[in-house]
Amino acid sequence: MRLLRQHADGSGLLEDLLDAELSKGALAPADRGLVQELTFGVVRWRSTLDWLIARKTDERPQKPSLKILLRLALYQLFWLDRIPDHAAVHETVQLARDLGFESQSGFINAVLRNCLRERPALEQELENLKQRSLHLGYSHPEWLCNRWLERWGREKVCSLLDWNNTAPSVFVRVNALKSTPENLAQQFDREGVLFTPRDFDWAPGGIAFELRSHPPLASLPSFREGMFYVQDPSTLLAVRELNPQPGETILDLCAAPGGKATMIAQLMENRGTVIAHDVEPGRLKLISENCTRLGASCVKATSPAELEALVPATQFDRILVDAPCSNSGVIRRRVELRWRIQPSEIERLRDVQLQLVWQAAAMLKPGGTLVYSTCSLEPEENSEVVAEFLATVPGFTRVSERSLIPFNDATDGAFVATLRKE
Ligand code: SAM
Repeated sequence: MRLLRQHADGSGLLEDLLDAELSKGALAPADRGLVQELTFGVVRWRSTLDWLIARKTDERPQKPSLKILLRLALYQLFWLDRIPDHAAVHETVQLARDLGFESQSGFINAVLRNCLRERPALEQELENLKQRSLHLGYSHPEWLCNRWLERWGREKVCSLLDWNNTAPSVFVRVNALKSTPENLAQQFDREGVLFTPRDFDWAPGGIAFELRSHPPLASLPSFREGMFYVQDPSTLLAVRELNPQPGETILDLCAAPGGKATMIAQLMENRGTVIAHDVEPGRLKLISENCTRLGASCVKATSPAELEALVPATQFDRILVDAPCSNSGVIRRRVELRWRIQPSEIERLRDVQLQLVWQAAAMLKPGGTLVYSTCSLEPEENSEVVAEFLATVPGFTRVSERSLIPFNDATDGAFVATLRKE
């Protein structure tokens, strides 16, 4: 409840607030799972829950804290099987009293019990809502649903919205600098990690494992020894297209926290140089930490001042621009993102992205490869950036362009364009 109130007050990102709360270590593993489920579920289903609350309270405005209490209880009653109804109602009423809402506790009790009495009819209404009003039924912003509907039509959009509302799998990439798929598999067996190796056309060779259940990953010897990196397979497409070779000099322009830079080092067998540049000093530190853990010794975390000093003496064989973006392809992983993303932000990011590709183009050797990637599904940030770049900078050709879309590829969304400098 405290977490959800802090989040509603704008006191921080949900994932950060949750991490800070859980890192206090006061909760048993099962309780940690429940806190995460409740927090993420309430934020994910916010607009559907609010529709339900409005429907059961004659649309009377509710105090923010009361609304959060009702969301928490209704999420348990309508979305979760693991909490008995009477416990969810009792706990919520008790929590209301503890928070000083003694006089409203009767009202909360009445609303929740009324919902329970009408459960079959309300469940049917929630199903109908998906037909009548996509954004309320699937709990997404209306403008985002409309923009996706125009592009893909109803069936695909419903599939995408369902994907966004499903808890994501954890994937790890085998770190070939420290291990092999076989060794990691044996080590995971010893550590009680249940997993399934998964091949993708752009990530073959059994390097992606989907985890079905696991102890806290950071506590595992396999993690400390750098045998794997937590990473969705969709993020590996850009590195595959970059096709780094041992001995080359490569720039990863937007590199933090280093997921792709360390995969580049892996493909280069640590021979050559990867300049892993980022503008955020705090995030540069993450690159260094990850490289140390993974043994990616050819990667150098590099600040803007350091990059400026390197250029123009250095020209790069290949450059990856994994640009900051709206992240609309990874909404299921970033639970609150759907409520933060704005059309104006997409426009602003497009300018940043174009600047980054222009900056990269000037540092690339003739004959070199430039890969532009995002985890956005929006054409403004993807093919339109590439088209504008090609229209404004002579001497580049488009080698390929590929989008991964959850309803086609069953992975997170990603866009990757490969360009060559003549
Ligand atoms: N490539 C990273 C990986 O695989 O782990 C993820 C990169 S993330 C999508 C985008 C990064 O761009 C952020 O770390 C952000 O700090 C950085 N960034 C934002 N503006 C930038 C700029 N003007 N120049 C370089 N990096 C920038």
